[in-house]
Amino acid sequence: MVPHIHWPDATKSTQYPNKDLGASAPHDALQPCSSCDKDVTLNILSVLTDLLSLGTGRRIHYVISKGGSETLLQALAAAARTDPPDHSILLPLLRLLARVGQRDRKFGLKVQKAEATDIILSLARRNLGHHLHLTHCLWVLRVCASNVTTGTTLGINGAMELLFKVITPYSKRHVRTVRAAIEALAVLLKSKSNSRRAANRGYLGGLLRLYQDWHHNDVSNSYICIRGGLLLCLKHITNIQLGRETFLGSRGMEILFTSVQDCLSCKNLDPIITTVTQILRKCYPKESLPVVTVRNSSFFPLPGNAKAEPPCEGSEADYESDGEEEAEKDLDNEDVESKEEDYDLETDVNKLRSRPTLDRPEEELGQYEAMCPELSHNFQELESESEEDKSLEDRTENLCSTPSHFIPSATSVKHPNYRRRNQSVTEMGPDPEEKDFKVPLQSWTKKEKCRWDPTDEKRDIVEAVQDADSCEEEDPTRSHMLTLRPLPKEAAWYKKMFYPECEASINPSPGGRLESSDTVRNLLEKHQGDIPFQSPRFYVARAKCVKSIPDYKDLAFPDFWGHQPPPYSKPMLERKHGVQRDKVLDDVRRLIQPSDVIGRTVFDLDEPSHSSPGAPGCLTFFSKFESGNLRKAIQVREFEYDLITNADVNSNQHHQWFYFEVRDMKSAVPYRFNIINCEKFNSQFNYGMQPVMYSVKEALQGRPHWLRTGHDICYYKNHYHCSTAAGGGIRGKCYYTLTFSIKFPHKDDVCYLAYHYPYTYSTMMSHLDMLEQNRNPRKVYWRQQTLCQTLGGNPCPLLTITAMPDSKKREDLEQFYNRPYVFLMARVHPGESNASWVMKGTLEFLVSSDPIADLLRNCFIFKIVPMLNPDGVINGNHRCSLSGDDLNRQWLTPNSQLHPTIYHTKGLLYYLRSIGRAPLVFCDYHGHSQKKNVFLYGCSIKETLWQAGCVVDTAVITEDVGYRTLPKILDKVAPAFVMNSCSFLVEKSRESTARVVVWKEMGVLRSYTMESTYCGCSHGLYKGLQLGTQELEEMGSKFCLGLLILHLKSLPCSRKVMAQAALLLDLEEEVTDRVQRNCSNSSLETEDEPPCVEEIDYNTDSCSDGEGDFSGLDQEIQECLSWVEGETEDEGVTTGQTCSSKALRELYISSQPASNSTALPLRSTALGVYSGFESSPA
Ligand SMILES: [Zn+2]
Repeated sequence: MVPHIHWPDATKSTQYPNKDLGASAPHDALQPCSSCDKDVTLNILSVLTDLLSLGTGRRIHYVISKGGSETLLQALAAAARTDPPDHSILLPLLRLLARVGQRDRKFGLKVQKAEATDIILSLARRNLGHHLHLTHCLWVLRVCASNVTTGTTLGINGAMELLFKVITPYSKRHVRTVRAAIEALAVLLKSKSNSRRAANRGYLGGLLRLYQDWHHNDVSNSYICIRGGLLLCLKHITNIQLGRETFLGSRGMEILFTSVQDCLSCKNLDPIITTVTQILRKCYPKESLPVVTVRNSSFFPLPGNAKAEPPCEGSEADYESDGEEEAEKDLDNEDVESKEEDYDLETDVNKLRSRPTLDRPEEELGQYEAMCPELSHNFQELESESEEDKSLEDRTENLCSTPSHFIPSATSVKHPNYRRRNQSVTEMGPDPEEKDFKVPLQSWTKKEKCRWDPTDEKRDIVEAVQDADSCEEEDPTRSHMLTLRPLPKEAAWYKKMFYPECEASINPSPGGRLESSDTVRNLLEKHQGDIPFQSPRFYVARAKCVKSIPDYKDLAFPDFWGHQPPPYSKPMLERKHGVQRDKVLDDVRRLIQPSDVIGRTVFDLDEPSHSSPGAPGCLTFFSKFESGNLRKAIQVREFEYDLITNADVNSNQHHQWFYFEVRDMKSAVPYRFNIINCEKFNSQFNYGMQPVMYSVKEALQGRPHWLRTGHDICYYKNHYHCSTAAGGGIRGKCYYTLTFSIKFPHKDDVCYLAYHYPYTYSTMMSHLDMLEQNRNPRKVYWRQQTLCQTLGGNPCPLLTITAMPDSKKREDLEQFYNRPYVFLMARVHPGESNASWVMKGTLEFLVSSDPIADLLRNCFIFKIVPMLNPDGVINGNHRCSLSGDDLNRQWLTPNSQLHPTIYHTKGLLYYLRSIGRAPLVFCDYHGHSQKKNVFLYGCSIKETLWQAGCVVDTAVITEDVGYRTLPKILDKVAPAFVMNSCSFLVEKSRESTARVVVWKEMGVLRSYTMESTYCGCSHGLYKGLQLGTQELEEMGSKFCLGLLILHLKSLPCSRKVMAQAALLLDLEEEVTDRVQRNCSNSSLETEDEPPCVEEIDYNTDSCSDGEGDFSGLDQEIQECLSWVEGETEDEGVTTGQTCSSKALRELYISSQPASNSTALPLRSTALGVYSGFESSPA
């Protein structure tokens, strides 16, 4: 309950009549007018003080809303005018002002309006010798200055000189006053003009010396707030260029860096260390990236002369001038509502509802008829079962045609033991750095072994290779140029096994290679068919046909050999306390102690001659293979390397994806890697995500795993930046560092490190080969066509998967032709390899012999483009295609030459729409780098308008809510999926994405983007775990299951389908129940990540100053009171408070202010406290 206080109308008059005091209106109760009124005023002040010190800020806000700040300011003006000033009134008044003012967002303006800045300044000046009074003035000064404009006025009028007089020279006398002065100064310095003034007058050096004095003398850490306040002053001054320059000139880096070394071991000093680290990062002189040009050095000439020339880069010399110099304009955050996200929502109903016209001539659509062969297929071959068919079936039954390891069966339903976390599992191999427990995957382990018939495989390979050869007529020599990367030196044991004749030359010259085909043959003899749906031979056959811009000649071992998920899931990595500041201080040390830095380029894609690979004691890097991305490696210290990744081809940005080989390592030593040119403003690497590593030695010993690995991981803004020209016109673009440390499992191994589980184009193509070979052709209708050639000349496959008709009978064929379409696609963004693993799961399920898959194929025709951006994937891009465009922003008007895969996918969708067969479900698989879990984005007019706060006329806008069904189903059947993370809003910035265009132009109600995290899950069965490829593939298969349930729920079904489904899905009910029980908390609201413990970006001033937290000043005031009380020995402020609050309520509820004054209970206790100030020694 907020008592109703009758406040004077502040808007009426700001000037109090100086004369005519006795005639003041009753509501001018704070007007000191006579000795008797003084008592009244004192009482009101004391009552107000009590009232406002109780409870929460709500009362204060109420007072503010009733003009409380104005009234208090008026009272201050009046009190200050009396000569000599009456401090018995002034002090409580100042305290109230400080407490109310800091919560009043418009206080600064009100102070200016009341012309109170001068009053406060002159009060402070007059009290320079009286520290208690002065302290009160400083509190109010600080509150006033929190408005930048008011702060600037105060600065112009000499406030900083005054404060400097108070805080210098160093002295431990009157620390409360010094503290108040420093804190006021820190706030004043938020104004850039004040900072400039301070820098020009040499205050910065003074502050540094003062900080050193306090640091040295405060041995017992009793004055942390004073030290913190001084640092805050430095932090604000260094927000401007002049401040940073002066700071560097005053040896600020050395002083702070040295001082902070004494603090690192003391946890109490964390706030100090944090601020010091922020200042050091900010003042670290900006540098351009140590590369010749930011652009990718490979250049791909585009057809049609579009963007044929790379945009002018501008000379690197100009970066000094256009760095990230702050906008000179100070921003007050009054009335700044942060509604950015909502601004992006499309609120134009007409735009939301309109269906744009075709983006191409209608005649063009005819060509896509050829991509729907299923609609004209007559199935003559169904006539008689040929012997060949039979033998095919026999063969496939022997093979692993049942990749049903993700599909619940009676024995492996949802692995209820999955969550037994503390049950540790004996690891399968040495993993020296990882001693944390592992979660057993239990029933999820892929148990089925492929039993490859070698003769069959030989035949398949011949076919596959023939296929592959046919795609490279122009360069028949190419296929002989691919080499497998050399195996580990130490794999001599291995070589011995296969190359007895090589024994003599076990250590070939560095870089010496084994003859590739022999290696492959021998490897396969030893390790045959270990990994389901992976065949090194198929891989090689496919990789030979790949056309890459750098013309890759090497195969990375993991892609060739294959990856099998490890038998456990990895929990998310717990963030180590202070990991970021430790890393930042390590970075700063390079500047302070340059002699420590080796600075040797050991790998340089652009200028191999400038690098010194194989230097003694240093790692050897390599990345020229499919999906590889590493541009440069610089050895910084013995076990530390700065790495630079390549921009996307024909672009100078989108650095995030990395994938490279490293060799010549020592074992059991942590190597630190810093990828110094990341671009995203935050990353899941700050929230438990680890990069992945693959060890060749481990693989050859039977553990071919990409493993989450690395410790001391963090992601933060660094001091590198990019000039406006080089940054593609983005002003002052800056970079972030991803740092992680890794202990390699073996000495002299060959290891691969990547951002996420790699999945190359050749992997996909060979996977499709395997699927085609493995399917049961009598049941599975499978067509692989080429949607189009990419810019780089690689075929983009289009798949059609459905069930073969039961027979040639008319009704069976009718049923076949009339199945609704489901359109799926993935990997438009090459860095999102998780999307490919999900797609892998979908494809394996769709061709499997699982009865649910059987039923599903009977219900739908699947059109699938499994990789929309092959060129991007091949060339190690993160975001774009060879045209340098984000292909998922081209859907409105794709260019047939520049964006062929998008142009033709859209064309095919247009065609389906034109024949009345627009897909029932459209889904584009993506990866999300900022969020956890798997979720869908969909499109809804109503939800968008509601979210934007628009009035929705439900009579006009009708909308089928069917778009919500599939995500709801997935929430129940897919353990990694979280409904609450889904969103159905249509953003303007997304209007050219596949999801929005297919929804709007093709009229597909269920048009989705499926986002899979790179990291792990925050909910459900996998809560706290990082996702592996197994969970991603499972998501892909569960998506299929979701489609079947959707079909049963939303579409008319034949009796037969219903009966079969009932049989199968009884089991599913059980599954769903169990899942629901297991994840009872999945209904929790999923928020985005909480702000990072340590600020990633040192330029954001946000809440790190403890602003918005009012407890600081309140506490100072409170402490000051008790300090005074201690000397006056007053009894019971507490009793006074309890009895007064009731009295006050009675008092203020009455509407007659006149009667209030008479009813005021005089509280001697409170008055005693206040008069105590007067008697206290100055
Ligand atoms: Zn994406």
